[in-house]
Amino acid sequence: MSHNLISLTITEALNGLKSKKFTATELVTAHINQMQSPSCRALNAFITETAEQALAQAKNSDSRIANGTSLPLDGIPIAMKDLFCTKGVRTTAASNILNDFIPPYESTVSQKLLDAGTITVGKANLDEFAMGGSNTTSYYGPVENPWKSKTHPDKKLVPGGSSGGSAAAVAAGMAMGATGTDTGGSTRQPGSFCGIVGVKPTYGRCSRWGIIAFASSLDQAGAFARTVEDSALLLQHMSGFDPKDSTSAGQPVPDFAALLKQDVKGLRVGIPKEYRVEGMPQDIIDIWEKGAAMLKDAGAIIVDISLPHTKYAVPTYYIIAPAEASSNLARYDGVRYGLRVDGKDLQDTYENTRAAGFGAEVKRRIMIGTYCLSAGYYDAYYTKAQKVRRLISEDFTKAFEHCDVILTPTAPSSAFAIGENTDDPIKMYLGDVFTIPASMAGLPGISVPAGLDDQGLPLGLQIIGRAWDEVTMFKAAHALEQQAAFSTQPVLIKDAA
Ligand code: GLN
Repeated sequence: MSHNLISLTITEALNGLKSKKFTATELVTAHINQMQSPSCRALNAFITETAEQALAQAKNSDSRIANGTSLPLDGIPIAMKDLFCTKGVRTTAASNILNDFIPPYESTVSQKLLDAGTITVGKANLDEFAMGGSNTTSYYGPVENPWKSKTHPDKKLVPGGSSGGSAAAVAAGMAMGATGTDTGGSTRQPGSFCGIVGVKPTYGRCSRWGIIAFASSLDQAGAFARTVEDSALLLQHMSGFDPKDSTSAGQPVPDFAALLKQDVKGLRVGIPKEYRVEGMPQDIIDIWEKGAAMLKDAGAIIVDISLPHTKYAVPTYYIIAPAEASSNLARYDGVRYGLRVDGKDLQDTYENTRAAGFGAEVKRRIMIGTYCLSAGYYDAYYTKAQKVRRLISEDFTKAFEHCDVILTPTAPSSAFAIGENTDDPIKMYLGDVFTIPASMAGLPGISVPAGLDDQGLPLGLQIIGRAWDEVTMFKAAHALEQQAAFSTQPVLIKDAA
């Protein structure tokens, strides 16, 4: 029974709950048991488990289901990235500086999910302050990917990042879905590495209120699930205008899940030539071509497009994101909240606190960002980067005159080993070469598992949509998912019974 329950999709689980095949308590218990099994605990996907609270909530879900007042996602166990502030539940951003921070308020997105009836089984691990693409910068240690390479089964692999804990939890059956955040790729790339769906909506679709800030002009909430439909369901209940976030938009939220099964006949799918980056593994080129062929089989029209400023996206991102981060992270001063390491005077207290509280990657970015924003360099770096960002955005506007969605690989590699690339930040930064451009333009993107590489590791394909047109993006992603029929799961979920 419990094996079946952790393999269900959200849609199947909602039907099962409605038809009383099982209770929310049974469903949540099965996921908690999986989360607390030694092999899952070894993945380090959670910073804080919230099993007790989850079981109490499951009881409430069961009463609502019994008396016919159930909420749209009642009883669905999810993982919450530990970047979303949760009232009364420790929220760390995977940083020592927030090690004992208990927010007195709930983020808008997590509140919306609570209001929809989801049940959080734990706060998922991440890269410190979401800065990273491998979940190895967490103060609480790295997360391990539940997938294993066929050729090197002894290697521990990264789940991607920064939302690595969320992705690992969903891939290993510890939660049916999860929240993530995506600043430059943090839902799409871990989705690709873990063989699940990861989606980031248009900038402004979800409220950022109560999400610990990294780079405010790029940060967006996103969702993970094992199917496109499930990810659409979650995103739908996370979206909408929030008066508490002036960058959240008043756009109506369509019924994503209901609309995604529409036909893709005649849909124009753009293939950007600049995404054929040098040194890309053959497996990735092959899966990309296969993906285009699959969409063509489903009735779409493939068109060649150009996004000429693609090569500037990563360098530009690594000016804008650290600049905004250096400003956002100035608030951690040991005075208002979080860690405090006293010194001989105020300056000394600031220095001690920040030296002890932040990890190496966060410090690196604060230094880069502060440099780019300093009086003598502001125009040369920050202003210039903003101009290039505009050019990147205009590339997409022009491309979307010729196509309705864009198909690209999600990442230039499959999951790599923990420890690999950590001493080479540039190599690590280039891992987001395909996800960052859409982030810079504020566009929605989704990663769909499309196949396996020669090591038996999952590879995702990314669909980028027009701003506010998640429906078309989901439609294309769903068609791709149907054609790819990706059904392999990591051993951990298969073994759990
Ligand atoms: N990997 C990118 C970075 O390190 C993106 C992270 C993110 O989207 N949060 O900044």
